[in-house]
Amino acid sequence: MGGVLTGAMLGHAGRDVLLLEAMDYLGGCSGTFERSGHSYNAGATTFVGLDPALPLGYLSRTLGVPLPVKSLDPSLRVHLPDRTIRLFRDRTQLMDELSRAFPEDDHQGLWRRIFRVSDAAWSMILSLPPFPPKSASELLSFLRPGSSLLMRGGPDLLRSGRSVLSRHVKTSSYRNFLDQILLITNQATSEEVPFLSGALGLSYPTLDNYTVLGGMEAALEAFARKIPSVSRKTLVQKIERVGGFFRLQTTRGAFDAQRVIVNRDVWGVADLLDDPTLDRQQEERKVRFRHRWGAVTLHFRIRDLFSGDFELHHQIHHDTNPWTGSRSFFLSLSDPEDDRLSAGGFRSVTISTHTSLSPWEGISREIYREQKEQVSRFILESLNRHLPLFRHAEKGEILTGTPRTFARYTRRTGGTVGGIPLRREFFPLGYPSALSPLPDLYLVGDSTFPGQGWPGVAVGAIGLVRRLEPGLL
Ligand SMILES: Cc1cc2nc3c(=O)[nH]c(=O)nc-3n(C[C@H](O)[C@H](O)[C@H](O)COP(=O)(O)OP(=O)(O)OC[C@H]3O[C@@H](n4cnc5c(N)ncnc54)[C@H](O)[C@@H]3O)c2cc1C
Repeated sequence: MGGVLTGAMLGHAGRDVLLLEAMDYLGGCSGTFERSGHSYNAGATTFVGLDPALPLGYLSRTLGVPLPVKSLDPSLRVHLPDRTIRLFRDRTQLMDELSRAFPEDDHQGLWRRIFRVSDAAWSMILSLPPFPPKSASELLSFLRPGSSLLMRGGPDLLRSGRSVLSRHVKTSSYRNFLDQILLITNQATSEEVPFLSGALGLSYPTLDNYTVLGGMEAALEAFARKIPSVSRKTLVQKIERVGGFFRLQTTRGAFDAQRVIVNRDVWGVADLLDDPTLDRQQEERKVRFRHRWGAVTLHFRIRDLFSGDFELHHQIHHDTNPWTGSRSFFLSLSDPEDDRLSAGGFRSVTISTHTSLSPWEGISREIYREQKEQVSRFILESLNRHLPLFRHAEKGEILTGTPRTFARYTRRTGGTVGGIPLRREFFPLGYPSALSPLPDLYLVGDSTFPGQGWPGVAVGAIGLVRRLEPGLL
């Protein structure tokens, strides 16, 4: 995502860009893969923010990239053991739904507070200078939008989400409901997140949400058409400084470049270079950002017996899952109009849930296989309880992914995915950025900016391009 968006912006401006991708498809965690003739979204399934004021709307319009998307409302249905809640874009409809589901909590007060901050933050997100500020003048240009945000949110902005929410949230079931949304948007719960990023994450269902027809890869391919050269199945093995250039040693030969933008996570980028400063920085980051998540995923196809109004995205809550530590999983179904993912009378399903990395490390092949089997069974049983249609409908092979799978296919270090959790202790200036200690070497992707997924990676990429070529965008 980061590499494609950066390449598209620079390619659109006429720069000589070459994108090197190890796999045979673009997108990494947001790609779409094929198995036995069927297509599945690897990880990312939700697409948000084509409003012109939001990052993807801005990029799609500025670069002239039409995207094959279909609008969704409600954006999500959440399943608790005894009720379901639809997250609508319309705020009155959302309040009515929440008041019905959680009658004891103060929704008006809470969401007024959330929207006051999130509306202000979304509206200024594209005018922010590159992150982090590098000079006094950049710092000053941060202060202007920062102070207007401060007027809206006051000292709550950097307080813990939990302390702000607790003024309005009375029941543990509502708190858990909000926490599970924060976990998918902020990678952390209300106790850990600052209210500012929490408000942005909680507001996401009320932004414009879409499904991408043709799989998430189709959105990446649309942006990639702006890149002059794309070389798939090209693994970068080493990056060396040779005179005034970088030489990239790859499985398809060597390439020289003036500037290199690496779309690897911050825990693995140094492995591509021989540089003690980068090595040291990477080791420090492994310690500093040790709270990181992996994912367990299930992919399968299912006979299309769904009614026309069956939502595409569902979050299903359950008791703590002993194999992942998580309390919910996210299920996405392909759209019936999607010719690629919904071919032959079937729909393509992607399920994902957070997992710690440690249960998947240092275990034998047998234990790994057994654990995969157990977690898959746990998720499917829970799914069948909440949505019995899934029990009865004909299904194809169930493919189970773990951090080992992400490490193997997307090359995420140790299988870490979803960026760095947004925690108060580092927010915002303690996070890594696109800058590296080496001149002309930059980073992009969800661990190089405090924000992940389409909106976070896009804002990080836009900031990098503005840093490299002021005035280009
Ligand atoms: C299970 C799951 C569900 C998610 N759901 C959503 C969602 O619904 N909506 C959303 O917006 N976001 C979602 N996300 C987050 C989103 O997918 C990521 O934040 C985003 O895709 C990260 O992009 P990135 O630029 O960091 O690149 P990555 O996804 O890390 O991709 C990096 C790319 O670089 C390639 N690469 C790595 N090393 C080399 C090398 N040496 N040579 C050549 N190529 C190399 C890889 O093959 C890969 O294609 C989800 C993530 C996961 C894991």
